[in-house]
Amino acid sequence: MPFQENNITHFPIIFGRNLLAELDGFVLPKMLVVTMEDLWPIFEKMLPRSAEVYFVKTLERSELETELLKFGHISSFVGLGGGQAIDVAKYFSWRLTKPLFQFPTSLSVDAVFGHRAGVRKKSIVRYVGWAIPQSIYIDYGIIDAAPRLLNIGGIGDIFCFYTGVMDWKYAATLGKCEKRWPYDESLAQISFKKAETALNSLSEIKNLTPRGIEIMVDALKWGGASYHAAGWNPRHIEGVEHFIFYALEAQTGKKFLHGQAVCLGLILGSMMHQQRTEEFLEALVQLCLDIRPYSMGVSWKDVNLTMKNLREFVHRENLPYGIANDFEVTDSFLSHAREKVESAFE
Ligand SMILES: [Zn+2]
Repeated sequence: MPFQENNITHFPIIFGRNLLAELDGFVLPKMLVVTMEDLWPIFEKMLPRSAEVYFVKTLERSELETELLKFGHISSFVGLGGGQAIDVAKYFSWRLTKPLFQFPTSLSVDAVFGHRAGVRKKSIVRYVGWAIPQSIYIDYGIIDAAPRLLNIGGIGDIFCFYTGVMDWKYAATLGKCEKRWPYDESLAQISFKKAETALNSLSEIKNLTPRGIEIMVDALKWGGASYHAAGWNPRHIEGVEHFIFYALEAQTGKKFLHGQAVCLGLILGSMMHQQRTEEFLEALVQLCLDIRPYSMGVSWKDVNLTMKNLREFVHRENLPYGIANDFEVTDSFLSHAREKVESAFE
C-alpha cells in the first residue's frame, strides 16, 4: 500500500498574531510557562500575570524528574521557545498527564511537531515520551522577532529530506536497508516534494513572508508526524547530513545552530552522493545561510577530522546504513569541498 499523506494525523496548528495575550482566555489557570531565561524579558509582558514561569536549565532526564516534584499544583503547560523549552514542556506534560500548548519562538527545528521529547541520559540524546499538544501556535509576530538565522536555519530540517532519501535509496540499491525500514518510494516521494517546494520558494522563505512561513511549517510538520506515522521510521527524513552534524558535535564538543551545521552536512553529504551539490549550495547562498566552519566557531581542520572519522562514527553509533558507511574520505575530496564552500560564500 502506498503511503498516503492524508492518512497522517497532524497536531492542530494555528497561525495568527498576538496569540500569547489570549492564553488567559482558554488555558486553565495554574499554567506553567516553560521557557528560556534569555527569552523572558521579551515575552513577560505578553503573558497573563497569573502564569508561573520555569526556565530550562537542564535536559538531563534524572534532573527533570526532580523538577517535576515542584509541579503537583500545575494544571497546564505552555512551551515557549526553540527546541529546548518545547522539549521540556513536552516532557513535563507527558509525565504529569496535563494539557500542553506550544508556542515556538522560531522555526529553527522540527521539535515542536514530534511526539517525543529530546532529553539526555548522561549527555546522550534520547527521544522519549508521548505528547500531543492541544495546539501549536505559530505567531507571525513572534517568529518575525526571532533572529533571522534561527528561522532560516529551519531549512536544515527540510533539505535533509533530500540527503535522507539519497541515503535510503543508496542502501536499498546495495540491499542494505534495515529489515524494519525497507525502501518505500511513496514515502520518499512525499519528502522529496516537500523539500522541492521549499527549494522553489527561496525568496518567500528568505523574507519570511506568511507564505514562506507556511511552506516551512508544512515541511517541518511532515518531519515530526511522518516519523511516527511510518512506524518510527526516520529514513525518509534524515541521513548523512545529520550524521555529519552529530559527528562534528562529538568531535569538537561544541554546540551548533542546528540548521547551520546540518546544512554543512547537506553539502558534504550531497558531494558524497555526487548529486545536486551546486544547486543546494546556491540555495544556501541565496538564503544567506553561511556554512563556512568559522561562521559556526570551528575550523576546516575540525571538519576534515570529523569527515575522516565519519565511517567509524556511523558504525560505532549504529546509525542507519548509508553513503557514510562506504565512502572513502580522501584529502582531495576534502580540499575540493573546502574550495566549493569557500568560493560559494566569498
Ligand atoms: Zn534536525
